[in-house]
Amino acid sequence: MLCCRGLKRVFVTGHEPLTVFHDVSLELSSNEMVCIVGASGSGKSTLLQLLGLLDTPTEGVIEIEGRDVSLLRGSEIDALRRRMFGFVFQFHHLLPEFSAFENIALPGRIARRSQSESEQKAWELLEMIGLKDRASHRPAELSGGEQQRVAVARALVNQPKVLLMDEPTGNLDRENGLRVLEILDALREQNPLAVLMVTHNPEIADKADRILTLEDGQIR
Ligand code: ADP
Ligand code: MG
Repeated sequence: MLCCRGLKRVFVTGHEPLTVFHDVSLELSSNEMVCIVGASGSGKSTLLQLLGLLDTPTEGVIEIEGRDVSLLRGSEIDALRRRMFGFVFQFHHLLPEFSAFENIALPGRIARRSQSESEQKAWELLEMIGLKDRASHRPAELSGGEQQRVAVARALVNQPKVLLMDEPTGNLDRENGLRVLEILDALREQNPLAVLMVTHNPEIADKADRILTLEDGQIR
C-alpha cells in the first residue's frame, strides 16, 4: 500500500545542513496500525510529512500502491494525497466559525463530492464518534477530547486508505486518548484503514501491530 526506501531528509537553513534521517525504509500494509516513537526532534513529524506527500525527500523513493511518487506531476501528487490520506495532528485545526458537522463535511465538498454524499458521510461519522447530538456546536463549545474526535472524523470523510496521525492524543487525558483509539478500532472493523501514528504514549503504542523507533537518524 505504502512503502519507502532509503529516505533521507536534509534541511538547509543556517550554515550547517541538518540531516534529520537517512536510509529510512518501511512498509505499511492496508489495515495495519503502526506507531512511530522516538525522542522529540528525532524526525517523526518530518517522516510523516514525507509519507503523506506534504514534503519531498532529499533522497529515496516513496511508493504508493506500487507507483513511484517522484515520477508524478504536482497535480497528480495533490490528487493522490487527497485520495489516499487523512491527517490528524496534535492540535485539531478545526475551523472555529463552523459547526462540528460542517467541519467534518467540508473536506468532502472540497474534494468535489456532492453535498448529499458529504453530509451523509458526516452524519455517519458523527454517530461513530458519539457526537451526533453536538452536530451544531462550534469547536469552542466542545471539550478537547470531543474536538479531537471531530478532527478524526474530518480526516475520514473522504474515506482515505491511510490515516496519518501526529501525536493525536498529545493534548488529551488518558481516558480521551483511549477513546480516540477505540473509535479507530471500530472504524477499522468496518472498512480497511491503515494507520501510521506518531505517539509518545506507551499505552497507545502497545496497541499497534508494530512499533518503529526513530533514533539517531535511523528507523529501528
Ligand atoms: P519530531 O517530530 O520527532 O519531534 P521533527 O520531524 O519535527 O521531529 O524535526 C526533526 C528535526 O528537523 C528537528 O531538529 C527540527 O528542528 C528539524 N526541522 C523540522 N522541520 C524543519 C524545517 N522545515 N526546516 C529546518 N529544520 C527543520
Ligand atoms: Mg513532531
